[in-house]
Amino acid sequence: MRRAYFTAPNKVQVLEEECPVIKDSQILVKIAYCGICTLEQRLYAGSRTIFYPIVGGHEASGTIVAVGKDVATGHAVNDRVVLDLVKRCHTCPACLSGNSNLCESRHKDTSQILGGFSQYRVVEPEQAFVIPPSLSLSDATFVEPLSCCLRSLKKLQVGLGTSLLVIGCGTMGMLHVKSALAMGVRVFVSDIDEKRLDVARLAGADGVSNASDFAQCIREVKAFTNGRGVEACSITSPSSLAAELAFQVLCPGGRVNVFTSYDEKPVFPIDMNTLHRNEYSITGSEGRTEMDFYQAVKAISYKKICTSDLISGVFPLSDIATALEAAGRNDTYRILVKVGDE
Ligand SMILES: [Zn+2]
Ligand SMILES: [Zn+2]
Repeated sequence: MRRAYFTAPNKVQVLEEECPVIKDSQILVKIAYCGICTLEQRLYAGSRTIFYPIVGGHEASGTIVAVGKDVATGHAVNDRVVLDLVKRCHTCPACLSGNSNLCESRHKDTSQILGGFSQYRVVEPEQAFVIPPSLSLSDATFVEPLSCCLRSLKKLQVGLGTSLLVIGCGTMGMLHVKSALAMGVRVFVSDIDEKRLDVARLAGADGVSNASDFAQCIREVKAFTNGRGVEACSITSPSSLAAELAFQVLCPGGRVNVFTSYDEKPVFPIDMNTLHRNEYSITGSEGRTEMDFYQAVKAISYKKICTSDLISGVFPLSDIATALEAAGRNDTYRILVKVGDE
């Protein structure tokens, strides 16, 4: 079987290896597709390092090919699954308080970090979520990114009739837009790319604004809410002006979630008195819990959220370098790697 390793900045190597062997408590999955997320783009570019060599990929779908004899969850060979590639311990304080996305053991077993760009992957039963026949294995790769967006929307406490500004409408911004709309939220979107704004408009966003004209963008977001400002704002673009925009358009009691991560370490452009007097809430969200993941499985399986329009290209594993470069371009949404047999 083949596996793609990031070996150094801008270097990815596909190696032929022995197929992994499962323990009696584990499941072996033959991976079909794996999406390329910002993390993999950064690992490839070298702006983020975990360790070398590492097998990237954490948005994977596939088919079960072996089930250990002690697995009692009902998983069976030929089940089509989507994988939650975070190994959670269920016993640390983070897990026990409902924040298993921050599990203190999640990075301990290095063989369990990422690993989607591999033709076979060993997982624990709890990491394999069965999907219905009606869901394609390529669409199933959107479960992981969607689950992270659902966590972000939960932090923002949005619901029916709430106003939300999504700053940045790349793939993650669009998944925010689609899920918030499905929840009955009034969604406004800002971006500096007119073509992306068109896509957001087509997806049903209630309003869009080009943030290249900052002052005009503030006026438009305010107008969207009859001058009051939005109740919630998700920052999905690592632009330094994004947080500034958020605090210019938030209504009193408003909430901001920092969804994106940054290569540098920008600080919040807000004084503490403004924060105090307006009762603003600032949160961050990173990854997803198993509950967010399960909810995303259901939302996509039952077609509450459609994602196929966000697939900009599919490349074979042997061509993963081209796939990574395409994923880094501004005019693409998700690029999938077809990990399974070509
Ligand atoms: Zn834990
Ligand atoms: Zn992801």
